[in-house]
Amino acid sequence: MLYLVATPIGNLEDISLRAIRILGEADIVACEDTRHARILFERHGVKPKRLVSYHSMNERSRAAELAEDLQRGASVALVTDAGTPGISDPAWAIVKEAIQLGIEVVPIPGACAAIAALTGSGMDTTRFAFEGFLPLKKGRKKRIANVAAEDRTVVIYESPHRIKRLLNELTEACGPTRRVALARELTKHFEEFLRGTIAEVSAKLAEHFPGDVKGECVVVLEAASERGDTNQE
Ligand code: SAM
Repeated sequence: MLYLVATPIGNLEDISLRAIRILGEADIVACEDTRHARILFERHGVKPKRLVSYHSMNERSRAAELAEDLQRGASVALVTDAGTPGISDPAWAIVKEAIQLGIEVVPIPGACAAIAALTGSGMDTTRFAFEGFLPLKKGRKKRIANVAAEDRTVVIYESPHRIKRLLNELTEACGPTRRVALARELTKHFEEFLRGTIAEVSAKLAEHFPGDVKGECVVVLEAASERGDTNQE
């Protein structure tokens, strides 16, 4: 079996009892960052039987090796850097491989930054689109235009040093009065939500961080249909 084990996105208490048990029982625990995982394991008294690395640099070769282990009957628990494996991280390669080989894939649910940000945003949660990371260059403009026209709430991951740029791009594409929520450092000591129009949130952010923004960020954008005010005519 391949277990996809969700781990905390900051607060080490955000992990299920089932996740802790599976991490101790699995024959192999594959981690995106073994040092990071060890901190979590120590906190919860998890003693993995065998720990291996699985990250974007070795995902192809390691996915093939893990597939062999799975075929031999070994159980593998996969944990990524933080949150739910498969959401904007390298888990997909091994999941595809396992399904092709007829191996059972078992998600162990838990923390996910997108869902935490969405639920705390105050935006309509009945229908939403998960955009993940936008492309850095090629295709970015088009994706921003699509996001601006989206008739569901949109959840976007962005690195802190590009967040101001993203808000500027969204202002251009959606107009300054569309509402947005910026969730920063979720579940951590300095967790904060900035909510308001894009113009208001940009101003608050510039006030808090005259230079580079610090901390991990999720942007939740109000649906175009809520206001009918995209600039995308
Ligand atoms: N698999 C993860 C999940 O389930 O959320 C996401 C991994 S992705 C590589 C990392 C991105 O998730 C960050 O750039 C940020 O956008 C978001 N993120 C992760 N932890 C966060 C946190 N504590 N607060 C805000 N955003 C976070």
